[in-house]
Amino acid sequence: MKSSVLLIYTGGTIGMHTDPESGALVPFDFNHIYEEIPSLRRLDVEIEVLPFDPIDSSNASPELWVRLAENIRDNYERFDGFVVLHGTDTMSYSASALSFMLHNVAKPVVFTGSQLPIGVLRTDGRENLITAVELAAAKDSKGRPEVPGVSLYFQNRLFRGNRTTKQSAEEMSAFASNNYPPLAEVGVSIQYNRAYIARPKSGAPFGIRTELEREVAIIKIFPGLTESLFRAMLSSGVKGVVLETYGAGNAPTGEWFIGALREAIKRGISVVNVTQCSNGEVNMDIYETGVALQKIGVISGRDMTTEAAVTKMMYVLAAESTPARRAKMLKRSICGEFGK
Ligand code: ASP
Repeated sequence: MKSSVLLIYTGGTIGMHTDPESGALVPFDFNHIYEEIPSLRRLDVEIEVLPFDPIDSSNASPELWVRLAENIRDNYERFDGFVVLHGTDTMSYSASALSFMLHNVAKPVVFTGSQLPIGVLRTDGRENLITAVELAAAKDSKGRPEVPGVSLYFQNRLFRGNRTTKQSAEEMSAFASNNYPPLAEVGVSIQYNRAYIARPKSGAPFGIRTELEREVAIIKIFPGLTESLFRAMLSSGVKGVVLETYGAGNAPTGEWFIGALREAIKRGISVVNVTQCSNGEVNMDIYETGVALQKIGVISGRDMTTEAAVTKMMYVLAAESTPARRAKMLKRSICGEFGK
């Protein structure tokens, strides 16, 4: 029997072509996907299209993530896999958010997009879309999906969604997963990196959780950050902070900084420490600067991306109501967002 894939189109560059009259790039009607990409018919996959009103992904929001999660839930039994077409700018945030919101997802949910519109001759969109569909439909020798869970496919590599980051506004290879190996590499054949593909426990029920706390902030520290600004950021009603620190998780040791953070944590704000470096991890045991943060209750984000950290924060703050329970959940890996 043919595999079936639900193709959800949210917007972004991939869904654009040149308007024959104005010459401008405009979104095309995804219900006519086979006219735009006739080679899709040659895949042995039944594709159904679910077009949302297209948005530039700079306008992505928790509402979009809830809509995606609900549509995947409502169609979960009918399809073997899901492909989400999404603008590249915030694709890693959306893939990270969905990885927390979908529980025990045993089917593939593959995000993809493109740097050049599908209607442009040199587009990367055609290959990204065709291969994403193939990956979402792929089964192993036991008939199980090859890559269950939320992933992101771009330029010949499939990554775990919550380990990705957009690394280039120019190169076709727009995404990186600096702290976790690709789940699959696509050349003449598709090589699955099975040791790194996680599967939910067999029989664990699929479900979704859509509550997200919006009062969260990302604070990137820099030399010259003033106490008044830092305190203002921490006292603006914020409930959770992702602190982007230097190197292995280091931050200023001055009392102005540590004191402001200590007070915020005492008020019940959760603070997770991630590094500004594009790879490597936070280790708050090495330097005095990191030890000071650990002492006041800052939680290590280990090798998590900022995208995963901020969406995890939204998810955890809505799921748990006390600082202690939130800390416990923030310290563990929910769906492979940090660690080996
Ligand atoms: N601005 C676009 C978006 O993220 C860029 C893209 O699709 O690549 O929606």
